[in-house]
Amino acid sequence: MPKISKIAVLTSGGDAPGMNACIRAVVRTAIHHGLEVYGIRQGYQGMINNDMEQMQARSVSNILNLGGTILKTARCLDFHKDEGMEKAYQNLKAKGIEGIVVIGGDGTFTGALRFSKKYPDIKVIGVPGTIDNDLYGSTYTLGFDTATNTVIEAIDKIRDTADAHDRLFFIEVMGRDSGAIALRAGISCGAEAILLPEKETAIEELIAGIKAGHYNSKSSSIVIVAEGDKNGGVYNVSEAVKKEVSHYDIKVTILGHLQRGGSPSAFDRVLGSRLGFAAVNALTAGQSQKMVGLQANVVVLTDLEEALNQHEFNLEPDLLQMAEVLSI
Ligand code: ATP
Repeated sequence: MPKISKIAVLTSGGDAPGMNACIRAVVRTAIHHGLEVYGIRQGYQGMINNDMEQMQARSVSNILNLGGTILKTARCLDFHKDEGMEKAYQNLKAKGIEGIVVIGGDGTFTGALRFSKKYPDIKVIGVPGTIDNDLYGSTYTLGFDTATNTVIEAIDKIRDTADAHDRLFFIEVMGRDSGAIALRAGISCGAEAILLPEKETAIEELIAGIKAGHYNSKSSSIVIVAEGDKNGGVYNVSEAVKKEVSHYDIKVTILGHLQRGGSPSAFDRVLGSRLGFAAVNALTAGQSQKMVGLQANVVVLTDLEEALNQHEFNLEPDLLQMAEVLSI
């Protein structure tokens, strides 16, 4: 097998805390193997625009603790087109780059797989970097732990005011297709109800639960609504409940983009380091079209094709059931 000598790394799609830890690990592991390593700015856009430069061990000093991504990220429509991919390929070839580590979510992997099938002489390894925790093949994705902790911190503060005023808060958290943050945050904050994209909850059922809580002397209630809940959004849900529930002052809070930011947790720093290290080791071992992920605390490789095609219910049903039992 011919030895690979130049690789590149990029971050793409939504940013996630821990991406910097991963970039650092990719750069330093590559240098450890004697490879040249390039950082590509703005995801696939940088590949098309030839916006990349060689990185050294010191290029990634003091970034472990930073949220966001030092390489920047972007959503790049040109990469969907053949001409965009061809330009990106020519830019990589001109630099002699033979392998890339792409850190991102399912869109990023879809692009990487298409690219690598079209140009198999460029090897690709994906690192699951998304706060949504929605990729098959890794129990945890990079950024999910930090984002959930950020949500918990915010909800704890909201609980104080909810309790002081007998308020019912509807709190929207990120997750258009994934209820992972909503479920973990709901359990961690003792939410009275958790509405998820993966499971329909009838408004009547929600109202009955809130009324039961009041009957059981609850002085505050927190309902967590994931962005992708099927009841038409957090305002719709709160309006529907308002018509039937008069004993609480009802408020809505949308946590929004603060959920993406902040210094990564210890978990995400370690995960980013492990996955970045494993991604480069996979490239040097001749692997391609694979995702590195964590399963049972062991780093494993999954075919990108498989990671993208498995759409089974990602949430643990037992956690959901437990959350309901514990919220009485
Ligand atoms: P997140 O889960 O945080 O949204 P993501 O990686 O899924 O992250 P997307 O915006 O869906 O984010 O995808 C990132 C980029 O991947 C896109 O902007 C585009 O450049 C590329 N991409 C996505 N789908 C394709 C595709 N079918 N063909 C080529 N490139 C694609």
